[in-house]
Amino acid sequence: MTVAVLAVQGDFAEHESVLRSLGAEVFEIRQKSDLSRHFDGLVLPGGESTVQGKLLRELDLFDALKEKIETGLPVFGTCAGLILLADRLSNDDNVYFAALPATVRRNAYGRQLGSFYAEEEFKGIGKIPMTFIRAPFIESVGEGTEVLAVVDGNIVAARKGNVLGIAFHPEVDENKAVHKYFLDMIG
Ligand code: GLN
Repeated sequence: MTVAVLAVQGDFAEHESVLRSLGAEVFEIRQKSDLSRHFDGLVLPGGESTVQGKLLRELDLFDALKEKIETGLPVFGTCAGLILLADRLSNDDNVYFAALPATVRRNAYGRQLGSFYAEEEFKGIGKIPMTFIRAPFIESVGEGTEVLAVVDGNIVAARKGNVLGIAFHPEVDENKAVHKYFLDMIG
């Protein structure tokens, strides 16, 4: 199975090595011509959502990726990637792919709590490490979106169909269970 990783900004390289270690074929999406290759799933890495959103438009990647997601391409967004997937941001006027019915708050933990570590249950997986870096969280989910993980009362992972969004960074921990979960979603 082939997974494309959006590689315009952020920590795409870490995702690539985890996916490869799980046996997936991986390539990077950096420019429009990369979209002519076949891929079975898409990863949107953490980084800076405003920068990524701007680059997606400038590189003319946005519309084609949005259409693929809307027509069922499995997509996995972490942190900034979750922000790109949300259909509403509570503290930002931007909306990007609007693929996940969920209201997401950017930089939701404030400056002091910008980065932290937790261990919590992830539905269907069990207890896993979760590293948060200037993370968003999900304030509420809309119709059809399933909550997969909650930390300190805040939703940090959710899924609707082919769309998986999480607030933390599984690519920086040894535990590969969330990437495995995504590969299982691809089938
Ligand atoms: N704070 C970033 C944003 O708002 C997300 C941080 C991350 O991806 N680690 O886009």
